[in-house]
Order: sequence, then structure tokens, then C-alpha cells
Amino acid sequence: MDITSLTVPVETARHVLWRYDRIGGAQPGTFTQHLMAAIESADMRNRAILREDYPELSEALRMARYDEDGLDKLRAIARGATAIRCTRCKQDDGPFTDAGLCEACARPMPLDGVA
Ligand SMILES: [Zn+2]
Repeated sequence: MDITSLTVPVETARHVLWRYDRIGGAQPGTFTQHLMAAIESADMRNRAILREDYPELSEALRMARYDEDGLDKLRAIARGATAIRCTRCKQDDGPFTDAGLCEACARPMPLDGVA
């Protein structure tokens, strides 16, 4: 499976946010609560097995735990956006300014080399 193309559903993002910081989160049912705990406490082999059946939840938990801006991305998904993208260059590599620009676009290098 191509992990980078995996889209985390809004509901899944809210569930993981509930587990991690509660901001923008929504409490899932007890099964999903236990499933999230199982995925996080699983060893590599069992985590891979669970990922086969629960790819979106596994990816959302991975983002929350290991992505530097994973929680920000999950919050954006929970707000209804599919992903945070720079309003200028459209790439999704944060962090972003309040105006929605990525770092590179917020401080663009002059193309002619003259500052
Ligand atoms: Zn940009």
C-alpha cells in the first residue's frame, strides 16, 4: 500500500485527536478506543497485521505520534479539509503561516538573486 496517498477520513482524524489532545476531537465508541490502544501497544508484526485491516486509523495514529506536524494535519482534516496545502505552491509540507503559505513561500527567495 502506498502510505503517502492514504487519506485519513474526517471521523478517523477526530477519533485520533480525541486520543491525543482532545482539541477538535470526537470520542469514538469503545471498540475504536480499544483498537487505537491495541495498535499503539502492538509490536511491529502485529501492528502490520492491524494496519492491513485498519489502514486509515493506523496512518492517523502514526501521524499523531511521529509526524512533526501530524496533529496539525489531523486538525485540518477534522475541520473538513483533506490536507493543509500552501495557497501559493500547493505543496503540503508544513509548517504554514496564518495566511496559508508554506515557509518557503512566506519568505520567497528573489528569483534574480537580488534581495
Ligand atoms: Zn508554498
